[in-house]
Amino acid sequence: MSDELTLAPSSVGLQGLTKNYGETPAVRDVDLDIWAGEFMTFLGPSGSGKTTTLNMIAGFVEPTNGDVLIDGQSVRAVPTHKRGMGMVFQGYALFPHLSVGDNVGFPLKRRGIAKKKRRQLVEEALGTVELDGFADRSPQELSGGQQQRVSLARAIVYRPPVLLMDDPLGALDKRLRDALQEEIRAIHRQVGTTFVYVTHDQEEALSLSDRIAVYNHGGIEQVGTPRDLYDRPATLFVARFLGESTLLCGVVDTPDLSVLRTGSRRIPVTNPNKVTGAAIAMIRPERLRLLPLGDPTGVLEIRVQSETYLGHVRKLGISLPDGTAGVVSESPGLASTVVPGDSALLAWDVADAVVLPGEE
Ligand code: ADP
Repeated sequence: MSDELTLAPSSVGLQGLTKNYGETPAVRDVDLDIWAGEFMTFLGPSGSGKTTTLNMIAGFVEPTNGDVLIDGQSVRAVPTHKRGMGMVFQGYALFPHLSVGDNVGFPLKRRGIAKKKRRQLVEEALGTVELDGFADRSPQELSGGQQQRVSLARAIVYRPPVLLMDDPLGALDKRLRDALQEEIRAIHRQVGTTFVYVTHDQEEALSLSDRIAVYNHGGIEQVGTPRDLYDRPATLFVARFLGESTLLCGVVDTPDLSVLRTGSRRIPVTNPNKVTGAAIAMIRPERLRLLPLGDPTGVLEIRVQSETYLGHVRKLGISLPDGTAGVVSESPGLASTVVPGDSALLAWDVADAVVLPGEE
């Protein structure tokens, strides 16, 4: 690797980062430490402030308040082209009149890297995205997935200390997305750069990221590993955004008792968020078990409303005693014999019923 190129990944710090468009707050007071070399994903619904945050990191958008720190240094006064970040967008933004090789080599040419070295680095980057031998092709001859690989190669060719990716797979069909997800993960491992990735697709976020920041209304609702967020969400919003669940509404009298009162029942729960008062216990579908009526380990009587067979799981829609709907998923080998119309008892391990603050 040439001396002119940076290899070390950078940390990115966001401090009180805020952006208002007139009266509209797009990003509100975001604090976040992205560690050097980590794969951080901003996940949230459309309009929640993810892209605006990314654009402030890149320098495309000026913050109203707060700061962006790269390796601990403020970059407020540093223009985009001097921040040295790689970027990949949903549109491929390739130069149609340049060959694939010249597209990928473009950032190197701009940095004054000599032709021979450039050719070697371009070949390496094309190899990383599995497009060996494509250097002389024209971008127009390539499929959407291949074009996105070229833009990935162009972004990693100079080993930027930070790579920003704004929904790069958003325009591709499901099969291609899955294939490229695998590759993006492999590329992250291989180049070791800090990745900051924006998506609204929870499966994509779960499968790619070291950590995820969940956005809601311009702020970060929770930051954690995929497992933290899925198994131990801090709010109902995060629980719902990360996947399906069954929700039991009630009251927690003291956070240490691990009991949720709902109607006349007392339900065993775990309370990592130390909630008291109005509360909701959340249980993921694969953590629930269905037992025959009369089983002494059953907790709540439910009625099975629907069944969907998905091959790897059987999903059952259920109705709870208070009339709300829930969902159970069963692995084929372990499936119960209940069918729609049956009553059954619902059971779970205490650790899998997570208490969240009740909605206002
Ligand atoms: P996301 O990436 O999560 O979809 P954005 O960061 O694009 O969300 O947008 C956050 C909010 O800021 C939205 O309400 C959006 O309409 C608003 N917004 C974004 N860019 C602009 C702009 N250039 N002018 C005015 N409002 C904007």
